[in-house]
Amino acid sequence: MTDASREAIANLEARLVALGAEIAACRACPRLVAWREEAAAHPPARFRGERYWARPVPGFGDPAARILLLGLAPAKDGGNRTGRVFTGDRSGDFLFAALHRRGLASQPTSTRPRDGLELRGAYVAAAVRCAPPGNQPRPDERDRCAPYLDRELAALPALRVVVALGAFAWDAALRAAASIRGPLPRPLPRFAHGAEAAAGPFVLIGTYHPSQQNTFTGRLTPAMLDAVLARALAIAEADRT
Ligand code: SF4
Repeated sequence: MTDASREAIANLEARLVALGAEIAACRACPRLVAWREEAAAHPPARFRGERYWARPVPGFGDPAARILLLGLAPAKDGGNRTGRVFTGDRSGDFLFAALHRRGLASQPTSTRPRDGLELRGAYVAAAVRCAPPGNQPRPDERDRCAPYLDRELAALPALRVVVALGAFAWDAALRAAASIRGPLPRPLPRFAHGAEAAAGPFVLIGTYHPSQQNTFTGRLTPAMLDAVLARALAIAEADRT
């Protein structure tokens, strides 16, 4: 890597760190602020005694990422506890194992920040940055949080593919793409597992969310997620040439 490339990456990292700090300080949604703090005050027995993050959770990963994995929101006792999205819950276990199999993560597990995990060519974020009751943000909360995703996308100049983990993330990615490149064609492309759509400067790919509800029932298998990630990599690489 040249000195100029190193400097460019350092600048991107600094921009993402500054944005992350801004996100983590946000208290714009009273219902979600109350919920994330309530979760910290009354953790389940297995996490009793742990100090919860209990703040908004920014995205993380490689500043030179070509692929973004976009989820719905941090889990109440996952990202809301550890401070890193998809970290410390079963959904994250499933996702990071898949990213590792495809060479996008340095290790197959993710338990806490600074656990050695590095993403390679990938970035992970959630459409809404605070854990919502029942994993269901309200439309006003979704819209209030959307500019953070817009700004994160703008801070990742190499990004080419967005993998939407579920229908909520699919819709959020479409809205973010429209904010960058103007109105999208109508009718809007519909979410399905394996669906693909042009979304502004990105290719959007859908996959079922790696929630326990989907992975324990076999609705989403490791092979299915592997195939989606292989397709994302193929698009990202083809675009590079
Ligand atoms: S959901 Fe987003 S906008 Fe609302 S408080 Fe959390 S970070 Fe702020």
